[in-house]
Amino acid sequence: MTFATLGLIEPLLRSLETLGYQTPTPVQAQAIPAVLAGRDLMAAAQTGTGKTAGFALPLLQLLAMEGPKVTANSVRALILVPTRELAEQVHEAVRQYAENLPLRTYAVYGGVSINPQMMKLRSGVDLLVATPGRLLDLFRQNALKFNQLQTLVLDEADRMLDLGFSEELANIYRALPSRRQTLLFSATFSDDIRLLAGQMLNDPLSIEVSPRNVAANTVKQWIVTVDKKRKPELFVHLMRKGKWKQVLVFAKTRNGVDALVEKLQGLGINADGIHGDKPQATRQRALDRFKASDVQILVATDVAARGLDIEDLPLVVNFDLPIVAEDYIHRIGRTGRAGSTGEAISLVCADEVNLLSAIEMLTRQTLKRQNEPDFEPEHRVPDTDASGQVVKKPKKPKKPKASGGGGKRNLGKWVDSGEVAPAEPSIKPVRKVPVFNTGPRKRKP
Ligand code: AMP
Repeated sequence: MTFATLGLIEPLLRSLETLGYQTPTPVQAQAIPAVLAGRDLMAAAQTGTGKTAGFALPLLQLLAMEGPKVTANSVRALILVPTRELAEQVHEAVRQYAENLPLRTYAVYGGVSINPQMMKLRSGVDLLVATPGRLLDLFRQNALKFNQLQTLVLDEADRMLDLGFSEELANIYRALPSRRQTLLFSATFSDDIRLLAGQMLNDPLSIEVSPRNVAANTVKQWIVTVDKKRKPELFVHLMRKGKWKQVLVFAKTRNGVDALVEKLQGLGINADGIHGDKPQATRQRALDRFKASDVQILVATDVAARGLDIEDLPLVVNFDLPIVAEDYIHRIGRTGRAGSTGEAISLVCADEVNLLSAIEMLTRQTLKRQNEPDFEPEHRVPDTDASGQVVKKPKKPKKPKASGGGGKRNLGKWVDSGEVAPAEPSIKPVRKVPVFNTGPRKRKP
């Protein structure tokens, strides 16, 4: 199969040739003809599958071939994304695909001045990539109109809900014309996502490209167990032993990011960090320097790292396991992209056993343990497997008290299976519901 047989027009084919895309990925093979035919889509596709081109290419084609010229302050296609980094990344991809088309594209997001964005929107844009909060601000200040809107894309919809954007999405939804094409992409399909899909999509085609929630199989994954307080030391040890060159490291909190960066820099290691407390310009600079290999170790929170697209990133290290198991898939999706191989190493302490178990259940695999001599933990990490069982070691027998009543105790394995998140069911048909009901707003670090 080629991109030409999917029905893409010549200017797009030329851009793809420049980019070196030869064969459509599975999500592209399914999404491109469906979008060109005007269908709504509900696609389960994780990052790294080529989903961006899957929606952007047919969208650009429809914009180029159909519909009126864009008028002042109007937008014809809108791509909503959860973070600024992803907005930049998606827009960059769109810009490359649209290189040979007479279309105006732009990206807007918070954390930067709104005025230049308002100026830019004055003449109207064909395709706008936006984070929900900034989009609403622009709309409320009359910098944007949706009367010409023909297509809406929700990219990483699960992440938008995780980040507490359900209210913004509901408000945006109310402002959009009801006749439009809608495409929803999500790595996972929780009940909340199905509610959102039920509200926003019209007779959607469901696409599932790889077994859902199964991490990219081009990534070699393993864990090292260690006591919590020795994680920084172990990290430095592994880094030197493995002669790591370019590593993306995930820490759970902003403070965790800062502490690790400080520690590494104190050892003369070329490290930098990104998290939500840092201004956008600082984050972008750190990212650019990491991409250019001027920074060796980039430490990030999940939110800040969302949407990072770095070619051939060889290694991802989970300094802390993520609280939400799905984030594990997003994290390791930074390596082993588009066919290349990668490695993901997690440093796991006893406190994190239930997080580990939830990840193994979600990815349906038991992560290989590799002990590091001299770092064996004093607080042992109980055995886990993909069934969700956390197997605690039998407790040491206490000395029987002199007063008797002892007898033999049952020292069998204690199985604690109730504490881990259940695996999600597979995609169910969407339900039509009258209102959003996506739970309380919660923002993550
Ligand atoms: P995405 O899942 O959209 O983030 O894409 C992951 C990476 O794969 C990006 O770096 C794309 O440029 C690249 N990519 C997407 N489609 C193709 C393709 N058909 N051939 C080669 N690379 C691709």
